[in-house]
Amino acid sequence: MTTKRKEVCMLCGKPSLKSICDVCAQRVQSEQLGKKTKEEKPKG
Ligand SMILES: [Zn+2]
Repeated sequence: MTTKRKEVCMLCGKPSLKSICDVCAQRVQSEQLGKKTKEEKPKG
């Protein structure tokens, strides 16, 4: 049994050296920006 720590993205669970992979990092960033600037929600 190997107790090796797997470094994966904590958001998508994909293997990544960082706790949050670039893809998710960008996603989170854009989401936060979008929330701050304006609410982009389609009506109806
Ligand atoms: Zn990720």
